[in-house]
Amino acid sequence: MDFELTEELKMLKDMAYKFALTEFTPLSKEADEHEKYTPEIRKKAADNGLVAAWIPEEYGGAGAGILGNAIITEELSKVDMGIGLNVVAACFGCESIFQYGSEEIKQKYLPPVCRGEWVSAGAFTEPNAGTDVAGYKTRAVKNGNDYTINGNKMFITNGTVCDFMVTQCITNPEEKKHNSFSLIIIPADAKGVTRNKIKGKMGIRASDTAEIAFEDVRVPQANLVGKEGKGFYQLMHFFDTTRIMVAAQGLGLAEACLETSVKYCKERTAFGTALGNYQLTQKKLTEMAIMIEALRGLVYKSGWLVDNGTPDYTLAAMAKFYSGQTAVFCANNAVELHGGYGYIDEYSVQKWYRDAKILELYEGTKEAEIMTVGRYLMAKFG
Ligand SMILES: Cc1cc2nc3c(=O)[nH]c(=O)nc-3n(C[C@H](O)[C@H](O)[C@H](O)COP(=O)(O)OP(=O)(O)OC[C@H]3O[C@@H](n4cnc5c(N)ncnc54)[C@H](O)[C@@H]3O)c2cc1C
Repeated sequence: MDFELTEELKMLKDMAYKFALTEFTPLSKEADEHEKYTPEIRKKAADNGLVAAWIPEEYGGAGAGILGNAIITEELSKVDMGIGLNVVAACFGCESIFQYGSEEIKQKYLPPVCRGEWVSAGAFTEPNAGTDVAGYKTRAVKNGNDYTINGNKMFITNGTVCDFMVTQCITNPEEKKHNSFSLIIIPADAKGVTRNKIKGKMGIRASDTAEIAFEDVRVPQANLVGKEGKGFYQLMHFFDTTRIMVAAQGLGLAEACLETSVKYCKERTAFGTALGNYQLTQKKLTEMAIMIEALRGLVYKSGWLVDNGTPDYTLAAMAKFYSGQTAVFCANNAVELHGGYGYIDEYSVQKWYRDAKILELYEGTKEAEIMTVGRYLMAKFG
């Protein structure tokens, strides 16, 4: 057993953090205030191998594995989780292409994303169904060599900036719910696709989120990812991997909260001594540190297991659940430790507080992760 990162991963970690500090910091406030997506940073990140870094070299990626990608995500999220998402989710949806796509599809879609030329999106959630994945209604009907697609998707990351969407559609309505879905690639510029940016997000405001409508959109049947009717199971497998990335976002954000709070508590005085000298203050910092350490274990181990060919999907759900808890807890403590200053935008902690909440909502709400872990426990000890 070895808990030490390899020299390669240490260098990657260092490089990703320095990249974020240099590139994100000047734009962070403006992107947050004006909800600005940051394509120029994504391109530079791709030039540095930080986009889709988990994709193997043969498809244009850095071959850093899921652990390497988690470490990149952690470091970028320490500086700005929204801009970081624009980098690490530029390939969102490609996980399914990599896991299930034909060789032709992989060669067509993965390399341009890795080069920062194309952006992908994973379009699953609908206006009337999010957690209830089997309740999606978007329909793809066979039409000659094409599918004709009708339906609506909601809250899609990269929705207005993507070049293509990996989309969950019903293709086999005659089958039982779980066997009725398929994943289909829809080009963003296909006729009948309408995309509207959703404005007014609480946090991660640099990221692009959209609602999307498909009206008689025709795509070739060759755009099917994997097997027809297997989309539900493919999507579950997709989340099992992407939840590690999302868990790493919370790790980075929580680390930033702790480091900034310790520094502040050493400088700020009350009643004649530094805040950090009070045990009540130290309790807050200590609890943050313990949760972060435990979360790092969950994130790194679940990434490492995928890279070693023994993925543990329950562990990934635990990591994602605990990431939300840790990030929200640490951001709350950071605001409190900064007192009134924590509540104004001169200090980053108010932004981290807003950013953190999404980690309990997307990529499965915290309740969805509880369902995943709960089901496993019932089966294991039943
Ligand atoms: C900024 C942002 C980015 C996003 N990006 C994407 C994206 O790229 N692609 C994509 O497809 N989706 C995306 N989403 C959607 C996100 O994954 C969903 O919002 C989330 O899964 C919850 O679905 P919902 O909003 O429909 O809530 P609902 O499913 O309606 O849930 C509402 C509440 O009910 C709870 N609940 C539901 N069912 C149960 C149950 N059985 N037991 C107990 N509690 C339950 C939920 O946990 C939640 O608290 C994004 C959302 C946001 C806000």
